[in-house]
Amino acid sequence: MVDWTNTKRKHGTSSGYQLHKQLGEDACRRCVKAATENSRMYRERNRSKKAKRKNLLMARAQSFARTELVQNHPAEYRRLYKKHKALLGV
Ligand SMILES: [Zn+2]
Repeated sequence: MVDWTNTKRKHGTSSGYQLHKQLGEDACRRCVKAATENSRMYRERNRSKKAKRKNLLMARAQSFARTELVQNHPAEYRRLYKKHKALLGV
């Protein structure tokens, strides 16, 4: 019988780490390092996705608020817009 656990084993990878765990072994240093890095990258990717989503929603809220503000206070908006254009020299 072929010992597939040794022939298919790839140390220094997340799957290598999983195999160590499935076999009830302590993972070797290379596999621990790979699994740690993989987890870190996963967290970073998800954090980044969450941040993008939050930024998108905040921009949308800002846009809705500006639209509502312009509708409810058009004269004030025009006055402020004109003032800031002048301040920017436009
Ligand atoms: Zn290993």
